[in-house]
Amino acid sequence: MKITIVGGGFGGVKAALELAEDDRNTITLISDKTEFQYYPALYGAATGHNHLESWVPLEKIFSGKSNVMLVQDTIVTIDAEAKELGAASGQNYSYETCILALGAVTTYFGIEGLDTYAYGIKSSEEIEKLKAHLYEEITGNSSEESKRYVVIGAGSTGVELSSALGSYIKKIYDHYGMNSQGVCIDLLEAAPRILPKMTEKASRLATKRLKKLGVNVQTGQAVEQATADSIIVGGKPLTTHTVIWTSGVTNHSFFKENKLFTLAKNGRVQVDEYLRASQDVYVIGDNADTPFTGLAQTALHDAIFVAGNLKRHAHGKPMKKYKAVKPPVVVPIGENWAIFEWHGFCMGGWIASILRRAADFIGYSDMLPLGQALGVWHASLISHDDNIMPEPPKK
Ligand SMILES: Cc1cc2nc3c(=O)[nH]c(=O)nc-3n(C[C@H](O)[C@H](O)[C@H](O)COP(=O)(O)OP(=O)(O)OC[C@H]3O[C@@H](n4cnc5c(N)ncnc54)[C@H](O)[C@@H]3O)c2cc1C
Repeated sequence: MKITIVGGGFGGVKAALELAEDDRNTITLISDKTEFQYYPALYGAATGHNHLESWVPLEKIFSGKSNVMLVQDTIVTIDAEAKELGAASGQNYSYETCILALGAVTTYFGIEGLDTYAYGIKSSEEIEKLKAHLYEEITGNSSEESKRYVVIGAGSTGVELSSALGSYIKKIYDHYGMNSQGVCIDLLEAAPRILPKMTEKASRLATKRLKKLGVNVQTGQAVEQATADSIIVGGKPLTTHTVIWTSGVTNHSFFKENKLFTLAKNGRVQVDEYLRASQDVYVIGDNADTPFTGLAQTALHDAIFVAGNLKRHAHGKPMKKYKAVKPPVVVPIGENWAIFEWHGFCMGGWIASILRRAADFIGYSDMLPLGQALGVWHASLISHDDNIMPEPPKK
């Protein structure tokens, strides 16, 4: 079988690994990046942890897989009749079977100024930009408003990030021998409670824990505008030089721009019971309108499902129908503490943080051979800033 996969993230990489097990398959994996991004660890990379845990070169993942060809390109069109993908480079890629896993993209919901002034943590570039800004602010500006850091969006990413940001910022102040008193971390959420997709118990536990860590949690606060030195919330300005947006994602524009796809109300692609958008075109992970879309584990589940069906089909067996599986959710909140939730059961504490470490290890070993997975996982335990901090200012 000749399979072309677009997207080197959770879904695309897992599908390629599964299909590569059969030597008769030829797989082309096209991604706009040369690295796989382990998003769940990005908040760590943004707050001083070793970056090795967050992005892994695709070449490393597929070393030794001679039936997988890696291509770096950005796919912009699909012609299902000609069975061809068109790329930004001008190159066309033909396929027999195509799996699309392009992931979600950030949206600012049209809120003025956020695209210009807010920082993000969805890529290595965004994280480097944020860290450079933090160092610059701390060493070059000691005003009170420069000590106010605002995280917008209290989904799991916003909660994780705000819980780790305070201690990271204090570490930078200490590094430069400066006084960190007055540092204030605000977590703003438009919904009436934080972690709105989890149970009320999870929200309560998380709020208590964040407050203990010194995070100023504010719910029912929708941001209306951002400027260089403030944000407008409820008609009132809040002075800050650092706004980090973790709130909105939307489906990749590729699916809106190509007429082949029918989109659900939430913008994701409608798929049939085999996760197909049309004959021989599968859509998985964040792009597909499935019950638990938007989670890494769902992308992995989808990839295994589609690869399994393609293997079945190749052996002349009937394909199975898709069954959505609700994955457990673990949200780390500060060092050695997390919230675990699954099918209504919810607990917070140290044990949940161990479960998260275990889940991360399983996540890495899903992608990498055991030895390499252990190496990357171990890197995630090492907390040090691998950015070279500039010399402390002379006193
Ligand atoms: C900061 C953050 C933290 C998260 N934390 C968690 C968590 O703790 N637990 C959890 O379950 N989920 C988490 N998620 C969600 C999870 O990461 C996603 O659900 C998962 O990555 C979806 O997998 P995917 O394969 O659909 O897309 P992705 O993993 O996003 O992969 C998409 C790939 O496609 C590539 N690409 C995009 N456009 C093109 C193009 N035009 N041409 C070629 N290649 C392209 C991208 O570079 C990327 O490699 C988090 C997400 C973020 C952003």
